Amino acid sequence: MESCIFCKIIDKEKPSDIIYENDEVIVIKDANPKTPVHLLIIPKKHIPSVNHIEVKDKALMGNLILTAKKIAKEKNLKGYKLLINVGREGGQIIDHIHLHLFGGRPIEIP
Ligand code: 5GP
Ligand code: ZN
Repeated sequence: MESCIFCKIIDKEKPSDIIYENDEVIVIKDANPKTPVHLLIIPKKHIPSVNHIEVKDKALMGNLILTAKKIAKEKNLKGYKLLINVGREGGQIIDHIHLHLFGGRPIEIP
């Protein structure tokens, strides 16, 4: 997806602070952090939103959560919040599915 910001980050065409990367997933610092730790866990496969997940993506979606757990442990986070925004009404701005990891202080989600 040439116009997708996250695909450009994955392809290293756009710079970002990369925390972790494997064949399937990349973890970057959010450019506009809402909490002291605010990371984005992004599958390398371009899936626009939760509404576009297919059964074949099941393992990949599980790996996003397992990656979140691994990074949170490495960062010694006592607690954290995971969030996926879906659609404009759900607060999604970037149309490439991603899991937010918030930590470092409590965050209220309305
Ligand atoms: P959404 O609202 O789509 O769930 O979240 C998109 C997130 O991506 C926002 O928290 C925003 O700050 C972050 N973001 C947008 N553009 C960039 C970028 O170019 N680089 C990084 N690292 N984060 C971005
Ligand atoms: Zn993309």
